[in-house]
Amino acid sequence: MTAQPSMRGDVAVLVPAAGSGVRLGPGAPKALRLLDGEPLLDHAVRRLVAAPSVHRVVVAAPPDSVDSVRSMLRGYGPAVMVVAGGATRQRSVALALADSPADLDIVLVHDAARALAPVELIERVAAAVRGGHDAVVPVLPVVDTIKEVDGRGVVTGTVDRAALRAVQTPQGFRRAVLEAAHAAAVDDLTDDAGLAEKIGAEVFTVEGDERALKITRPLDLEIAELLLRRG
Ligand code: C5P
Repeated sequence: MTAQPSMRGDVAVLVPAAGSGVRLGPGAPKALRLLDGEPLLDHAVRRLVAAPSVHRVVVAAPPDSVDSVRSMLRGYGPAVMVVAGGATRQRSVALALADSPADLDIVLVHDAARALAPVELIERVAAAVRGGHDAVVPVLPVVDTIKEVDGRGVVTGTVDRAALRAVQTPQGFRRAVLEAAHAAAVDDLTDDAGLAEKIGAEVFTVEGDERALKITRPLDLEIAELLLRRG
């Protein structure tokens, strides 16, 4: 943890961090797993508060770990607040959104699991929303060939890779758009831009960053450690 940031910026960031992380194997909730001796969540929050645009970070913690997450992040001061998350990622985001300062008109949503997302990426997404886009996602080209497969494991088609993008976080929104998207949500989706699409919002893409990989499986942790060592 570093010194408290000065309070500035026009952006609130919601950090869903209440997942169990079963795919990483048995152990603590995913956001609290250690990477280079520090919880993933700490890595993520440190980069967020270092971004000049960010005024407030609202973390949705596992409900039974709210107190420990709060004391873990206390050193960041009032820029970072912690609320109890929900049973799904979408619910955790909705709970953090409800507790975020209403006067911050730009809201980013960032998975704690993308712990190494660099400041440049956070600023790129915020700048695109500030520049007039209602919803913004960072994307990378898809390098693998993607096949459609039926229930028997037989290939039924090949998708045109040129039109595909892999989506990362942070995703950025005008507050009113994110609030409307969550208010209208019926299905449980894995990302907030998907909810915005469903209410007809235009979702704009900006360039993603490979360092913002989602730490999901044990190998991802090893890759993240290598990235950290490289500096
Ligand atoms: O499970 P998955 O990897 O898709 O989770 C993405 C992010 O959503 C993680 O940062 C996880 O902690 C968070 N999450 C949450 N509340 C849940 C489930 C996941 O905040 N109930």
